[in-house]
Amino acid sequence: MDRILPGSAVGVLGSGQLGRMFAIAARQMGYRVHTFSPDTDTPTGQVADVEVTAPYDDLDKVREFAAGVKVVTFEFENVPAPTAAAAAERAPVRPAGEVLHTTQQRLREKTFLARHGFPVTGFRAVRTPDELRAASSDLGLPAVLKTASFGYDGKGQRKLASAADVDAAAAALDGREYVYEAFVDFEREVSVVAARAADGAHADWGVIDNTHRNHILDLSVAPAEVPPAVAREAADLAHGILRQLGVVGVLCVEFFLTKSGKLLVNELAPRPHNSGHLTIDASVTSQFEQQLRAVCNLPLGSTRIRQPSAMANLLGDVWERGEPNWAAALAVPGVKLHLYGKSEARPGRKMGHLTALAETTTEAAKLALRARELLVSPR
Ligand code: AMP
Repeated sequence: MDRILPGSAVGVLGSGQLGRMFAIAARQMGYRVHTFSPDTDTPTGQVADVEVTAPYDDLDKVREFAAGVKVVTFEFENVPAPTAAAAAERAPVRPAGEVLHTTQQRLREKTFLARHGFPVTGFRAVRTPDELRAASSDLGLPAVLKTASFGYDGKGQRKLASAADVDAAAAALDGREYVYEAFVDFEREVSVVAARAADGAHADWGVIDNTHRNHILDLSVAPAEVPPAVAREAADLAHGILRQLGVVGVLCVEFFLTKSGKLLVNELAPRPHNSGHLTIDASVTSQFEQQLRAVCNLPLGSTRIRQPSAMANLLGDVWERGEPNWAAALAVPGVKLHLYGKSEARPGRKMGHLTALAETTTEAAKLALRARELLVSPR
């Protein structure tokens, strides 16, 4: 596979914050960046060389877009399969469309993981009330019922705790496919962001500790304080998954760590991940630069974490009382601000993040959270 060198154009399907941070890393290394999505003035488009605005099902436009770049990657994992296939007629798509296909539907993803022996919580496909009741009697309660397709950040899922919840969920089934999952009484949620090159070389940033609020990632801390054996196992599982899927690029594995110290894979994201944003400030090579290196067939960079770090997400809610107090937050030592260029601050919408570096992860988390609190303090 040829190397794609600085000066070349790289294409991104999707135009959100992940594409933006990828584009910033790529431009820093002298690449040109083209982005494709149905929107205009997007987080990625604002920093790209070329912003193409067209629907994902305009396959002629997709082919034209791919013909103008040396490699196509994506930041939006729900890119439809025919779009990835059309792009692949004109340029290599990395990771390949098949990786997208497996990971963009929960049931396919879980089936893939279970079939290859990766640890997951018990699950069943459910479409009818009878299947739901059967799943419930096999796997027990509590449980989580999730839509099989296109759910993220807890959208399209409900917790079932009692027989009455099961009856209510059965009555609400709508003919679509769902996944019934045994509830995991986890101690915490952790992730491993890993990269794999075409020659099989791989790298990861170690285990990242994640705290969610309302199903949305709130705070990430690295390195996570987990026993060395758990850290090794998490990294091994992540690399095993990338290898088995044939990923060329970056993929995040989200895990539950149970109270007995067992790792269960919750979800895969075949791209850089919110929990890896702290690598921009904390690591020698960020997850976005690594994505670029992997898809361009360049050597992977060092993933050493230079300093304990924490990342706090900034949701649209921070704007509720008007313009945030940026100066107050930026006065906190060791804090870095990242904003995604989104014009409308809706509640729950990811608008940016703060990273803090400190001597310990506890101190870093304190600084990031303190800076975020100061954003809503009077100016
Ligand atoms: P997901 O969209 O599958 O990542 O789920 C969002 C969040 O819901 C996770 O980060 C967990 O906090 C929680 N969750 C999802 N599935 C389960 C489960 N089987 N057991 C316990 N908590 C879950």
